[in-house]
Amino acid sequence: MKNIAVIGAGAMGNGIAHTFAQSGYKVQLIDVNKTALTHAAQTISKNLDRMIQKEVITEALKKETLNNITMFTDISEGVEYASLVVEAATENEALKLEIFKTLDIACPDDTILATNTSSISITKIAAATTRPGRVIGMHFMNPVPVMPLVEIINGYNTDKEVTYFIVKLTKEIGKTAIQVNDYPGFIANRILMPMINEAIEALQSGVSGVLEIDGIMKLGMAHPMGPLELADFIGLDVCMSILEVMHDGFKNPKYAPNPLLVNMVRAGKLGKKTGEGFYNYADERKAVVPAARFL
Ligand code: NAD
Repeated sequence: MKNIAVIGAGAMGNGIAHTFAQSGYKVQLIDVNKTALTHAAQTISKNLDRMIQKEVITEALKKETLNNITMFTDISEGVEYASLVVEAATENEALKLEIFKTLDIACPDDTILATNTSSISITKIAAATTRPGRVIGMHFMNPVPVMPLVEIINGYNTDKEVTYFIVKLTKEIGKTAIQVNDYPGFIANRILMPMINEAIEALQSGVSGVLEIDGIMKLGMAHPMGPLELADFIGLDVCMSILEVMHDGFKNPKYAPNPLLVNMVRAGKLGKKTGEGFYNYADERKAVVPAARFL
C-alpha cells in the first residue's frame, strides 16, 4: 500500500492526511472546497512546526511529510491509484452515501473504503457500494496527530481480512486500534455524547454555570477538558447530528439533543470553529459566554 486518499480536508481530514503522510504514505487530500484545502495545508504545516519545537520530529521529516501530500478538488482524479480511501467529509448521511457511490465507481476494485463517520451506520454506507465487504469504519479522534485511538467499526458485511489489514495499518501509523460493532454512536460517542448532552441540560436548567460544570468534570473526574469545552472543540453541529442519529437509531428519548444545543446550532454558534459556543474564542484567552444566553 502506497497511496491513501483522504476525502474532506476539514478538522479531521487534515489531521488524517498529516498522520499518514508523516508515516511515509503518499496522500491524496481531496475537498470540493479550495479554501478548505488551503486552510488544511496551513494547519498541517503549523502542527508540524509545533512538533519540531517539541523535538518530536525533525525539519527533514516535516519537508518529507508535506511532500507526501497532493491536493485535489475532484474525487475521481484523486482516488485513481488509492489502495485505501478514508472519507472524512461533512457528517451528513445523504452526502456520504453519494460519496461512496462515486468512490465505488472511481476506485480500483480492491480499494478498501473507510469512513471516519462519528455515528452513521457503516452497514448502510457499505450498502451504497458493490463492495460491502471492503467497507469499514476508521474513527479517528480529534486532534488526529496527537490522539492515540482509532475506533475500528466492523459493518455487518465487513470482511475479516479487511479488518485485520486496517488494524495492522493503524498500528503502523503509531495508533491503537480498538474494534467495535456497528450500532448507533459505536462506543466512543454512545458514551461521550450523552455526557455532553447532560452537561448542556444541567446548564440550561440552571443547576450550574459553564465554568463550574467544566471545572467539576476536570478536577473531579480528571478529564483534560470539561464537557462544554469539549463540545465547542468537536463542533456543536457535529454533537447534535450524532445525538440525532442515536435518537433515531435506538428510538430512545434519552438521546434527544437538548433544546439549547439545537438553538445554538440554529443560531450558528457552533463552538471553536465559528468563534463562539459555550465560550467565546475572539481573544487568545477564551471567555465564558454570559449565562443569560443559555436560558
Ligand atoms: P469539517 O466540517 O471540519 O470538514 C468537512 C469537510 O468536508 C469540509 O472541508 C467540506 O468542504 C468537505 N466536503 C463536503 N462535501 C464534500 C465532498 N463531496 N467531497 C469532498 N469533500 C467534501 O468536519 P470534520 O469535523 O472534519 O468532520 C469530518 C468527519 O469526521 C465527519 O464525519 C465527523 O462526524 C467525523 N469526526 C469528527 C470529529 C470532530 O471532533 N470534529 C471527531 C471524529 C470524527
